[in-house]
Amino acid sequence: MTTGLEGKVGLVTGGTSGIGRDTALLFAKAGVKVVVAGRRELEGQETIELVRAAGGDGLFVRTDVSKDADVEALVQKSVEKFGRLDIAFNNAGIEGVWVPIVNQSEKDWDRTIDINLKGVWLCLKYEIRRMLKQGGGGAIVNMASTMGMIGSVGAAAYSASKHGVMGLTKSAALETARSGIRINAVCPAVIETSMSERLFSAPEVHKSVLGRHPIGRFGRPAEVAEAVLWMCSDRASFMTGQCLVLDGGFLA
Ligand code: NAD
Repeated sequence: MTTGLEGKVGLVTGGTSGIGRDTALLFAKAGVKVVVAGRRELEGQETIELVRAAGGDGLFVRTDVSKDADVEALVQKSVEKFGRLDIAFNNAGIEGVWVPIVNQSEKDWDRTIDINLKGVWLCLKYEIRRMLKQGGGGAIVNMASTMGMIGSVGAAAYSASKHGVMGLTKSAALETARSGIRINAVCPAVIETSMSERLFSAPEVHKSVLGRHPIGRFGRPAEVAEAVLWMCSDRASFMTGQCLVLDGGFLA
């Protein structure tokens, strides 16, 4: 069975590496014309080369998702290139600085919230506007985390930003439900990317965090991409305002 996404236009933020890059590639393999947004030009162009090598069509737009003008231009350039916008994965994010609340600087707090939470809000704002202008219809997936559902010692800003993404997702889904636009989130536990490498590679930390995954391993970016593709397809047609947890049993 196909996904029914052939010929659609999709946007992936943070598509220069990790989960975003694998999702951009899977979108392309499903026949989606992919716009990849990120701050790093070289890595962005690399993703587009991979998209083309997979037989797809793509465009990289240099974007800082925490900047209103950048996100507005991103949606505008997507439409200029491919004529419309049907699906989006608001994935860009940072881990920020993981320290106890009492040691967190205002600068680090603001940066984490600006990229992880305000960035998702800005993307929703311009993506929904465009989808409404097209007459409604479409699907958006926001990147949250299992840390959007539970607290974490030493990562309050990250956890708060991801809880915020959950609130945004539910509110946006309610605002758009009657327009045929479905908005959901994905909540992975640890996935093998450069982010998890930075956070959990020290041997004792790795062992302890791995031990919290009953499945006995971390997730792979491609496993998140599969879930995002499904949520963006009409095969998830009755799903909106929800978070899909992909965690190898972590929360259970
Ligand atoms: P990653 O570091 O490979 O990817 C993050 C991407 O976001 C990078 O391409 C980065 O350049 C981009 N980005 C960061 N700030 C940006 C900005 N201001 N504007 C545009 N792009 C920006 O790591 P990843 O693990 O693939 O992370 C992707 C998302 O998944 C993040 O939101 C992260 O919080 C979330 N997540 C990751 C894990 C994990 O264990 N890896 C688990 C749950 C959720």
